[in-house]
Amino acid sequence: MLTRSALIYLSRQEGLKEFAAKFGLFKKLTTRFIAGETIDEAVAAIRDLNARGCTSTFDHLNESVGSIAETEAEVREYLDVLAHIDETGIDSNVSIKLTQFGLEIDPDLTYHNVRRIVEDATRRGNFVRVDMEGSNVTQATIDVFKRLRAEFGLNDVGIAVQSYLYRTMDDVRDLLKIPARIRLCKGAYNEPPEVAYPDKKGVDDNYVGVMQVLLASGGYHGIATHDPKMIDATIAFAQREGIGKEAFEFQMLYGIRRDLQEQLARDGYRMRVYVPYGKHWYPYFMRRLAERPANIWFVLKNLWK
Ligand SMILES: Cc1cc2nc3c(=O)[nH]c(=O)nc-3n(C[C@H](O)[C@H](O)[C@H](O)COP(=O)(O)OP(=O)(O)OC[C@H]3O[C@@H](n4cnc5c(N)ncnc54)[C@H](O)[C@@H]3O)c2cc1C
Repeated sequence: MLTRSALIYLSRQEGLKEFAAKFGLFKKLTTRFIAGETIDEAVAAIRDLNARGCTSTFDHLNESVGSIAETEAEVREYLDVLAHIDETGIDSNVSIKLTQFGLEIDPDLTYHNVRRIVEDATRRGNFVRVDMEGSNVTQATIDVFKRLRAEFGLNDVGIAVQSYLYRTMDDVRDLLKIPARIRLCKGAYNEPPEVAYPDKKGVDDNYVGVMQVLLASGGYHGIATHDPKMIDATIAFAQREGIGKEAFEFQMLYGIRRDLQEQLARDGYRMRVYVPYGKHWYPYFMRRLAERPANIWFVLKNLWK
């Protein structure tokens, strides 16, 4: 059986992706988790989600970009996405990864790149969420986010945090002082025990603790998880504290627990679905398999359909 860390290791081996691409396996392998390769395909997926009571966030797949020219292409892609959202009238914001915009090349370049996207989103009344990546860039991500928040409003740009990191509760208390809109997730990267809880219980307990701080803060935050225990804890806390269903949103990934997405939307909760699209699907796709190796069988079965 492939372990989680082996799958995360494979997520960094682009050669396997080339193999899959060569044999035209893209569609069959990935349709469960990835909306397609183009903006138009993502728009179609989002229309469908909107019709089922869910709002959405675009994610153009392309992380750890290695050249300045590529970061410029990412800026143009996201400006195009924001224009498509307006033109089509779909209900969606956008999520970005700072390594897409050069964080591993130059944080200042990243700031200036992302600034253009946030400025355009602000002008359109839309919102940009900064995803959180590996712990090697946590501080740099927060630093760029704080620069953006100094210039743009609370409802223009937000950030994500990960409950598996020991530092997250302190980061959240610090970010709430600005204040900031925060997405809470468990964390998807392979982190050492020096920086992250090595066991599920530690990650989950911290998730519940951070969720309570976020909801009690009075801001509008995103509770991103497919874990029924985290969802139940959130609903129970909100009910106990008299926090309304409109005061926060649940968030899930495209293709994962669609039944639960629709159920929560039917129950009157706000549900946002993260919709990844693009040609560079491989690391994202492999992280989803790592979270639930049983998905490998789902994916393989699709090959024969
Ligand atoms: C909207 C959104 C945004 C995210 N943004 C980030 C980010 O910025 N940075 C980051 O590091 N991570 C991000 N993640 C990923 C997150 O950190 C987790 O890796 C992922 O959500 C799995 O954790 P979980 O909370 O669902 O709980 P888990 O404990 O992993 O899973 C709980 C249950 O959920 C279901 N489930 C979970 N994963 C899958 C799957 N792949 N396939 C099928 N069922 C599954 C299963 O029933 C499982 O038992 C995001 C997740 C979401 C939903």
